[in-house]
Amino acid sequence: MNSDDRTPGLSASFLTSASGPKDAPRDEVPEVAFIGRSNAGKSSVLNRITGARNLARTSKTPGRTRLFNYFDLARGGRLVDLPGYGYAKVPKQVSDAWQRRIASYLENRTQLRGLVLVMDARHPFRDLDLAMIQGCTQISLPLLALLNKSDKLSKNDRLNGLRKGREILASFSESERELVGFSARSGEGADQARDWILQHL
Ligand code: GDP
Repeated sequence: MNSDDRTPGLSASFLTSASGPKDAPRDEVPEVAFIGRSNAGKSSVLNRITGARNLARTSKTPGRTRLFNYFDLARGGRLVDLPGYGYAKVPKQVSDAWQRRIASYLENRTQLRGLVLVMDARHPFRDLDLAMIQGCTQISLPLLALLNKSDKLSKNDRLNGLRKGREILASFSESERELVGFSARSGEGADQARDWILQHL
């Protein structure tokens, strides 16, 4: 165990799954949602932030990968794991339907306070990532973009990635957004991400 494994997390427990806005929990509990390209490390990021080894495995159990999965935080507030995108084998109609489902959730879920976008630091800001950023901008939803797997980059590449990423984010019209270098493996950026989530819940 390295020192990061002892970092306290935002303790959370699985609440329920939903197929979309219609059967999402009907209460007023504030939420921060997580989204990202499949394999960018969204589950690992959720595990790191909550300090749970396998919390997000729940979202990966067969039948749940296309669902919205809800985790209640012990301190109050809720995290929502939205289905990942970019599965190579998914036909276009399915990914279009996915986009509509997500867009509808982001637009209509009144207790949604922010979106955490998980990207792989080695190839960030792909088309659907940009579509998500654009979507947040349009509805003025605060965005935290994470460049995950930073441990796979040299220090120089990390800094360059952050600089370029901030330029890209700045090219969208004015709205609240932040970019953080992250590593689910080492714990880099986890405190910043937790602080951001707590500020928004
Ligand atoms: P998801 O599909 O976005 O939920 O991605 P996963 O959390 O399942 O991660 C996909 C793969 O990337 C797994 O093999 C993880 O171990 C690996 N991974 C996730 N985060 C990191 C990270 O910060 N650093 C490294 N080196 N690997 C990571």
